Amino acid sequence: MTDFNTLSVVELNDLKANLQEKYEEYKSKRLSLNMARGKPCPEQLDLSMGMLDTIKSDSSLISQEGIDCRNYGGIDGLVEAKELLAPLLEVSTDEIIIGGNSSLNMMHDTIFRAMFKGVPGGDQPWGHYPKIKFLCPSPGYDRHFSLCEFFGIEMIIVDMLKDGPNMDQVEQLVSEDETIKGIWCVPKYSNPEGVTYSDEVVDRLAKMETKAKDFRIFWDNAYAVHHLTDKPDQLKNILHACKEAGHPNRPFLFGSTSKISFPGSGVAVMGSSKENIQHTKKQLSAQTIGPDKINQLRHVLFFKDFEGLKDHMKKQADIIKPKFDKVLELFDSELEGKHIATWSKPNGGYFISLNTLDGTAKDIVALAAEAGVTLTGAGATFPYRKDPRDRNIRIAPTFPSLEELELAIQVLCVCIQLVSVEKLLKIKEVC
Ligand code: PMP
Repeated sequence: MTDFNTLSVVELNDLKANLQEKYEEYKSKRLSLNMARGKPCPEQLDLSMGMLDTIKSDSSLISQEGIDCRNYGGIDGLVEAKELLAPLLEVSTDEIIIGGNSSLNMMHDTIFRAMFKGVPGGDQPWGHYPKIKFLCPSPGYDRHFSLCEFFGIEMIIVDMLKDGPNMDQVEQLVSEDETIKGIWCVPKYSNPEGVTYSDEVVDRLAKMETKAKDFRIFWDNAYAVHHLTDKPDQLKNILHACKEAGHPNRPFLFGSTSKISFPGSGVAVMGSSKENIQHTKKQLSAQTIGPDKINQLRHVLFFKDFEGLKDHMKKQADIIKPKFDKVLELFDSELEGKHIATWSKPNGGYFISLNTLDGTAKDIVALAAEAGVTLTGAGATFPYRKDPRDRNIRIAPTFPSLEELELAIQVLCVCIQLVSVEKLLKIKEVC
């Protein structure tokens, strides 16, 4: 396909007219397609409907340990829920807390407690410093960045590479600044790039010397079992690596069944060293008398064990893999060789990350919106919603039907080309 950069002004103008015509055609269809958030589609949710039949009014709700799940108590979760979900984080059952319905909620509360009370190893609560900072490998998950903004934590961008954050940058930064207290990591099939951290990156995170004695890795393994291929990416165990490196308290691990069972009605988990878990459990008892054990039980009865949960994820992959394939097929046929965009080809997770020409992402997203296609806001994948190169667009293919998705991506491809042509024309005019 023709490299757009090699086209003359006349050729670019012809192309622009042609693309504009296509765009107007799509616009006249008055589409309303939404790919803004990574949500499971109804067919994926249907797979978990059996969970609602696991408990009837005459069911026994007495847990393995004899706890009546209908009543208060069990601050850190049922033993059987720990047995089901500890393998998700690859921790032991005494290194996990079963939470409520949202891992983001657990991350929020973990930071909140650290701000007010501190964490083991620290001299004072994080909130007592005039300012603390977090490293934010970017592009990254927008809600992590919103949490930092909410708590007034300054965000420092670290580049995401093909195998995780740029560790040269990370090591340098944490070695010289005591107020850098944390780093956000989505280590498997990262949001949005689909990157899985290499063993070397995991080891370097575990071993690095940090000026802050109370530095924490926020290891958000939201996509631990969300494979799209039969040969899943392998992720080294961060808690083992940190223990081996002599920093057992460094990682806080998070996960949930949000995109396994029902988002908003799933079960969230947090893992860490025994010391961190004990410390957290004590603090938790001020916040709640206990989580929703009936929902934990439903998950245990439905999945039975971790193998059951993994089998369930294969059914999810059967539904969403064709959608990822469709997006990649359209990007290949519409954009490949034109040198106006590059995109990720993830082995799992929920997103495809698209990079367009520098300075074009905002315009592309706005143009698509005008034609009825809503995408994640440009810039959302960077701290403070500011993409320094204005080029990253997060594609969330799971929610729309295959037909809707095909149409939305066709519209997007026209928008990308149109804005790129306009950008190239501007450059040529200046020259
Ligand atoms: N972490 C990441 C990386 C996510 O992509 C998401 C969901 N989009 C979450 C956390 C939210 O998880 P939960 O529903 O458990 O709060």
